[in-house]
This record gives sequence, C-alpha cells and structure tokens, in this order.
Amino acid sequence: MAKITNILLLVLLAGANFVQPASAMPEPLDLPPPAQPKDQQWRLPLEAGRVSSFFGAARGRRAHGGIDFSVPHNTPVMATNHGTVVASSMGYKGDSKYGNVVVIEHEGGLRSLYAHLNKRHVNVGDTVAAGELIGLSGATGKSTGPHLHLEAYQDGTRIDPNRFLLANLEDGALPSAMRAKRTGVEEVPPTPRSKAGNGASKKSKGKATRVASAKSSKKKTQLAQKSGKSRKRA
Ligand SMILES: [Zn+2]
Repeated sequence: MAKITNILLLVLLAGANFVQPASAMPEPLDLPPPAQPKDQQWRLPLEAGRVSSFFGAARGRRAHGGIDFSVPHNTPVMATNHGTVVASSMGYKGDSKYGNVVVIEHEGGLRSLYAHLNKRHVNVGDTVAAGELIGLSGATGKSTGPHLHLEAYQDGTRIDPNRFLLANLEDGALPSAMRAKRTGVEEVPPTPRSKAGNGASKKSKGKATRVASAKSSKKKTQLAQKSGKSRKRA
C-alpha cells in the first residue's frame, strides 16, 4: 500500500514538473499583435546606423523610394529576412543609380533591395538566411556619400520598408531626416496590377485620402481665418 502511494506521489510530482515550464512562461498579454505575419517581419540590415532619409521624403520633385542609413564604407550589410537572391549586379533593371545592388525575394511576394554597395557577397540563385552577410556598404552609383539605400517591394510595387522592419527608426534618426519626414510628400504607390483590391492597396488608398483631407481641412481653416480677419477689418 505504501509503495502504491509512493508511486502515486511520484506520478503527481512528475505531472507537476511537466506543467511547470508552461506556467513559468505566461503568454505576453500587453503586446499588440504584429502588423505583418511573423515570417514577413524584417530585421535591420545593419548592426548600427542612423536613418538619414525616410521613405517618401522629398527629393526635388520626387519622393524618396527607400530608407537611407548613414554608415561608413565597408559596413557589413545583412539580409532582412530569409530568401533567394534574384539580383546581384552593377545597376538594377537598366538603372545605374543603384550602383552595386543586391535584391532578395522573400515569402509573400516581398522583395528587399540594397543599393550603393561597395562589395557584393552573394550571387543570383543563392539562398540566404535572415541576418546573413550579403555585402559591404559603399557609395557606388548615384550617391553623395557612403550609405545603405534599402527598398521594399510587394508584388512589384515599391512600398515603405518600415512596414516590415522590427525597429523604431525614428530613434537615432538624423534631425534632417526627421524634418524631411514631416515636410516630405507622401508617395502613393500605384495599385498593383495583379490581385487588384487586396488589403494592402486599400490601406494605402485610405492613408492617401487621410493626408489629402487633413491638408484640405487646414486650407479651409486658413481660409476661415482670413475671411474672419477681413471681416474684422471691414
Ligand atoms: Zn536612398
């Protein structure tokens, strides 16, 4: 009888031990759900670097098509996520401004592009892991100084890489980048040709509308103020 009780105790204890690790790691309740599916979240392509220009910042008449990170020459550049190298060349799609460029195709129709590299360490067809070294930063192509220009594409449409990056880029961004971000033009990506009416294009349309309505309401306020002033004067 004593033996059976001992065995029962052992079983109970074993059961308690088995349950313990799960209760020691409670589910994080206060974290917001990730904006992108977990396999589509990107790590930063650099160990360190300050943003010198955000996506959509004004560049003359055009909007900046990527995010610039200010880094010295020959800083290791890493893949933002696992994928397959689809371009590793001087220039991209006939455009020499990119200089030495690497493009990686990820899951979900996503691509990441790394421009102005001094050295490329991967070739077309290579599979790379997230965080794997793909090249060294530089100032090749159209560049005023050494930096990494990162672009993101979804189904061939250029989008803000910040949608995927798991980092607060505004922390440590150059003051000039923050100013340009505030005054910059919002680039509205064209509607993707395939899979029309998907969630992404609806989202960007909504954003564009919001920006436009905010501007027009500001105009209306200014007009109202003007008319108010003129009434006082009159
Ligand atoms: Zn750039």
